[in-house]
Amino acid sequence: MMAGNQGSLSQFCRSEGWLGAASRFVFRSTVVSTHDILRDLAEHGAPEGTVVLAESQTAGRGRLGRRWLAAPGSALLLSALFRPPEPFLTYAPRVMMSCGLALREAVAAVTGLAPALKWPNDLIVERGEQWRKLAGILAEIGIIAGQAPFLMVGVGLNVETPAEQLSLVSPVATSLLVELGHPVDRAALLEAFLQRLEERYERLCAGWSPLPEWRAALAWMGREVWVKAPAGDVHGVATDVLDDGTLVLQTAEGALLHFPVGDVSLRL
Ligand code: ATP
Repeated sequence: MMAGNQGSLSQFCRSEGWLGAASRFVFRSTVVSTHDILRDLAEHGAPEGTVVLAESQTAGRGRLGRRWLAAPGSALLLSALFRPPEPFLTYAPRVMMSCGLALREAVAAVTGLAPALKWPNDLIVERGEQWRKLAGILAEIGIIAGQAPFLMVGVGLNVETPAEQLSLVSPVATSLLVELGHPVDRAALLEAFLQRLEERYERLCAGWSPLPEWRAALAWMGREVWVKAPAGDVHGVATDVLDDGTLVLQTAEGALLHFPVGDVSLRL
């Protein structure tokens, strides 16, 4: 399989499986964003399971138009293409949840760390009341007139990023290197992630819902949180999440507020 430890992932090749298999794996050293490359491929008929991986992005995206920053060669930066069955809007959030679960499990299996998910789609490491962001996941829908929509799920996982670079990215960013104190094989992480995402995707196409597992993996459920929303910040207890990813918040007055995955962020 493998590219070397801190080496390029250009030679990465899965031994089995269809997600990111050799014929569906696109490596680029530098791209504007892996989502942009994948979108173009998808619009030209690329098959489900196509994965675009890059060593660096000149304009990597987070949610809400934010930037995702990563020093070249330090991260796992990839986008994967799915063409889920109908109804698309039932399946799309389940794919996003499965992606978070697969990434969390892959990190745990390869490194022994036990990160949590931060609603809706970040991977975090918790230390008491402190938390640090290890990875972000960005799902985007592609629509072409007259065709079924497609779904792209992107991952930015900080692997080899040294502490001094993380501080330039975000005050809450962390990396596997910083958490563990030693380098981690990016190819092993990639293989572990693709295997787990593929397995979950096959199950969800057969009717399985990742919701209970996702709910259990989410940090801060049952705790007091702030939801940062465009109309202002709202305080309450994160009581539940729904099948479409919506967060349910109970305010001090007892009202149950619903926040769809979209334009809000969660804070303790
Ligand atoms: P939050 O919910 O924490 O506000 P988000 O999910 O809305 O995050 P993301 O899309 O996950 O936002 O990521 C964008 C944000 O993440 C940026 O605004 C920046 O602060 C931070 N960020 C950018 N690059 C990285 C990185 N490599 N590691 C950790 N955090 C990063």
